[in-house]
Amino acid sequence: MVPTHIEHIGIAVKDLKSAIDMYEKILGLKCYKIEEVPDQKVRTAFFRLGQTKIELLESTENDGPVARFIEKKGEGIHHLAFAVDNIKMHLEEAKERGIRLIDEQPRKGADCLDIAFIHPHSTGGVLIELCEDKNVR
Ligand code: ZN
Repeated sequence: MVPTHIEHIGIAVKDLKSAIDMYEKILGLKCYKIEEVPDQKVRTAFFRLGQTKIELLESTENDGPVARFIEKKGEGIHHLAFAVDNIKMHLEEAKERGIRLIDEQPRKGADCLDIAFIHPHSTGGVLIELCEDKNVR
């Protein structure tokens, strides 16, 4: 199974409001959605460019994964998200190939997606997210 496109690029930021302002100024895009994902301890903001989105991530808790990421590496690119048609099948295939997964089962992510993360130990240090779009089109 091959992903269809890059669904979004996740960027860790300290302050969502000023990051939104900055991206609107730089790219002339409008943020179309701000959504909190309690499961991941983040508040997210989305911009759309064709099929691909920019997802800004601000931690809602001091011990959240995004807060820990910024502590270690500073603000910047946090993960790459690939769109797949069947996330469950994709995870099964990855497991069979011995790839280390953070999520063995898909869970609910922001913007109506089913998501799962692959462990950066299996991907050369890049945090990779798989997404299946559950929006009815
Ligand atoms: Zn993401």
